[in-house]
Amino acid sequence: MKNMKFGTKAIHAGQEPDPSTGAIMTPIYQTSTYVQESPGKHKGYAYARGKNPTRVALEKCIAALENAKHGLCFSSGQGAEDAIIKLLRPGDEVIATDDLYGGSYRMFTKIFAHYGIVFHFVNMHDANEIKNHLNAKTKMLWVETPTNPLMKIIDIKACAKIADDNKLILVVDNTFASPYLQNPLDLGAAIVMHSATKYLGGHSDVVMGALCTNSDSLYEELAFIANSCGATPGPMDSFLVMRGIKTLHVRMQAHCKNGKEIAHYLKTHPKIDKVFWPGFEDHPNHQIAKEQMRDFGGMISFTMKGNDMDAAFRMASALKVFSLAESLGGVESLAGHPASMTHASIPKAEREKSGVVDSLIRLSVGIEDIEDLLADLKQALDAC
Ligand SMILES: *Cc1c(COP(=O)(O)O)cnc(C)c1O
Repeated sequence: MKNMKFGTKAIHAGQEPDPSTGAIMTPIYQTSTYVQESPGKHKGYAYARGKNPTRVALEKCIAALENAKHGLCFSSGQGAEDAIIKLLRPGDEVIATDDLYGGSYRMFTKIFAHYGIVFHFVNMHDANEIKNHLNAKTKMLWVETPTNPLMKIIDIKACAKIADDNKLILVVDNTFASPYLQNPLDLGAAIVMHSATKYLGGHSDVVMGALCTNSDSLYEELAFIANSCGATPGPMDSFLVMRGIKTLHVRMQAHCKNGKEIAHYLKTHPKIDKVFWPGFEDHPNHQIAKEQMRDFGGMISFTMKGNDMDAAFRMASALKVFSLAESLGGVESLAGHPASMTHASIPKAEREKSGVVDSLIRLSVGIEDIEDLLADLKQALDAC
């Protein structure tokens, strides 16, 4: 069926009743290899590192949600990123968002820098800043929006224009928004990437990565890298993510609703200094957020008055419904301290330059009842 709406695609895309039994759910094809009729003659499946039917169903589903021609899944978000950077050659340069997921920063600076790829970390909330770092060797723009953890919004269309004018590959890490809130390929990106561990999976029970593209040549190259380097996911994990995605639209609506209430509650609290959430009208990029996102999500960060790190630690430790943990995007609410957790691999000076100060707390607002979440935040703030 053409032109299905988001929720219908989340439940059905890529999935047909199993032809041999009629099973409504795509089976977990727990196999490493496939029997061939005669040497080289097979049904499109030869060896499961390259292709597995459960994974193929998931790839089609994620591609449908991103309005993409092609999807590819990886054993983690980092595995997907690794494949994307392997499109490049020594000497090539990448311009990346400055407050970026700590693991991406670590991979770029501690692994790929040794292979001669040069990374520039730039505050992209003014897209013109990108132009200051362009040169003949620039090959890729790496954008994360909303940014992590400061919830800056980067104008994807403006980046796509710069990428077009300079023949760069625009990659957007869409993990924070999920395809429910934002579709970067529709705004001109060449590749959209996800840590499916987060909102796509949605239940904090699986690690997985994904990417989508409309370009046949990029897809061929990325699928070749995936099969050659081997960071492809197994069928059980593929099944779990596919099952998670079936409620993505319903979960995202609940995340956004709870996120909005909590952002407004925190903003008026006397112990809190700044609250970072793109839904506020006084957020510096609110207008772009409104244009490129369907809603504002459940990711919120805040700092304590006087940048008091001890108060931030006491607050985070006193939470009872929110769990203190890395990661995000699951049904359960999480709180994190980026400076010592997700962003610990970024040097302090670099971190503070981009605004990740010591009293910053990041919330991944889950879909529990809002009264309980608000009461939990209130008691933790009273205690700190
Ligand atoms: C978690 C995350 C990643 C890495 O994904 P993994 O599945 O943990 O490997 C990349 N980007 C963002 C924005 C993330 O939150």
